[in-house]
Amino acid sequence: MDIDPKRSRERMVREQLEARDITDPAVLAAMRKVPRHLFVEEALRAQAYEDHPLPIGHGQTISQPYIVALMTSMLEVRPGMRILEIGTGSGYQAAVLAELGAEVYSVERLQPLYSAAFSRLTRMRYFTVHLKLDDGTLGWPEEAPFQRIMVTAGGPDVPDPLLKQLDDPGILIIPLGTRQRAQELVRLVKQDGKVKKSSLGPVMFVDLIGTHGW
Ligand code: SAH
Repeated sequence: MDIDPKRSRERMVREQLEARDITDPAVLAAMRKVPRHLFVEEALRAQAYEDHPLPIGHGQTISQPYIVALMTSMLEVRPGMRILEIGTGSGYQAAVLAELGAEVYSVERLQPLYSAAFSRLTRMRYFTVHLKLDDGTLGWPEEAPFQRIMVTAGGPDVPDPLLKQLDDPGILIIPLGTRQRAQELVRLVKQDGKVKKSSLGPVMFVDLIGTHGW
């Protein structure tokens, strides 16, 4: 690899995150720390810090750095929180959440991606990330409730089990919309038994496939 990962990360944070609307110091610090280039295959490492998503095999992608930072900021993560992520993929988003001091529970439905993320995160000593191979639209009932839930694949609607497994107060973020990667990033805030919904703008994610997905 002919890039200096640390310098590339500094530049990514400055030009793609700070120059836009990412201001949370803890999120910026986490993005400065996690070695994103080690979450993609070797041939793509030189592109790891560029301003776009990258393929991770099996038709799936690791999100653009800005989208990871935006979703992480909007989740308002605090140390010690229990977070459920649906769509482990490469494990990068889970590592960013772990850097914020969270206890991360991440579910992936594709076995090869699950296995690769498992060895990667173990090798990097992310011991506060717990992985499961399953249909994430069912959540992780044994570990519920979760104070935060992040879905990193686009579905038709909020999976009912996830809304049930969200703590009160709690925040859930999910891309919703039509298939074929055109969605709206939706944020749900649960408080005092009520759920408030807001939009964070248009996004493009791979499909959420499963019982409560497509
Ligand atoms: N967060 C990942 C990127 C996610 S790509 C990262 O940081 O790299 C979306 C992932 O969601 C894919 O790996 C896909 O296989 C997975 N996925 C889709 N539907 C799912 C489901 N029902 N349960 C668990 N994972 C699912």
